[in-house]
Amino acid sequence: VFQLSVPLNFLGSVYRELRQALVDMETMFNLQGVHANVKDKPNAPPLVLTDLKGGELRFEDVVFGYRPDRPILNKVSFVVPSGKKVAIVGPSGCGKSTVLRLLFRFYDPTSGNILVDGQNIRDVQLDSLRSQIGVVPQETALFNTTILKNIQYGRVTATEDEIKAAARKAQIHEAIMRLPDQYETKVGERGLMLSGGEKQRVALSRAILKNSPIMLFDEATSALDTHTEQGLLQNIRQILQEKTTTSIFIAHRLRTIMDADEIIVLKDGRVAEQGRHEELLRQDGVYKYMWDTQEGEAAILGYGAK
Ligand code: ADP
Ligand code: MG
Repeated sequence: VFQLSVPLNFLGSVYRELRQALVDMETMFNLQGVHANVKDKPNAPPLVLTDLKGGELRFEDVVFGYRPDRPILNKVSFVVPSGKKVAIVGPSGCGKSTVLRLLFRFYDPTSGNILVDGQNIRDVQLDSLRSQIGVVPQETALFNTTILKNIQYGRVTATEDEIKAAARKAQIHEAIMRLPDQYETKVGERGLMLSGGEKQRVALSRAILKNSPIMLFDEATSALDTHTEQGLLQNIRQILQEKTTTSIFIAHRLRTIMDADEIIVLKDGRVAEQGRHEELLRQDGVYKYMWDTQEGEAAILGYGAK
């Protein structure tokens, strides 16, 4: 039986938290400045995704720069089919995070189009777009509150059991249980400082709670040691399969995305190469060079090149 017994001050606080969560998203993405151009068109319809299939993501000749004199993406096109996992790799600063910021519509492209299930994201309600996309950013901002609440930002209506289940999947539950006040431990700048890897797992817990059909991972496990990273990636694979999810993984360590359905290599504002891991190795281009360099380093550092 549906009961409307939620006190109004609770709704007020949920609203504030939602707003705050959005602000947080923006800090997580390192957004500078407010982009007044990005707003709903009058009477914009909500984004509608095909049931149970994740959602197809499509970039069509996308051109974008933060400043007009310095283009970052120059006619970038690619497709992430519904339910598939695509990886984006490339040199630092080539625009990988920018691709995700554009998908989340923090900015609009200068020209070209971004479509989700055939709908131009410029034309749909912003909230409906963002509510379908879970993001695990490279840098996560924590609020000055309990770790429980910090995870709950993923979905403010989640129950304590759901929050703990998400934390287990993100492999941070055990660590939380060892904190002085467990889930009630205050974290953030005025509380307990968490390590980079712990913050990434808080971010992952949030995204797991949000349970979106589209998930974006921006070097989401980069602060973890190789062993923890492997375990977590296995959990993520399972989560993406349980409920068909379309995903983009941005990765520095190529070993973490070898299994992607497609790998896109961004370089100098363009898609330089694309294909599966083995295909790209055979092409003997940018990807092969990146792979050889990383495997060489791995051998020197002694964590087992193949
Ligand atoms: P990557 O994720 O591939 O390392 P980014 O997408 O973060 O690269 O950034 C691409 C380029 O855009 C970089 O040169 C970066 O310095 C620049 N850049 C990123 N964010 C901003 C911004 N808010 N304002 C101006 N330039 C930016
Ligand atoms: Mg980046």
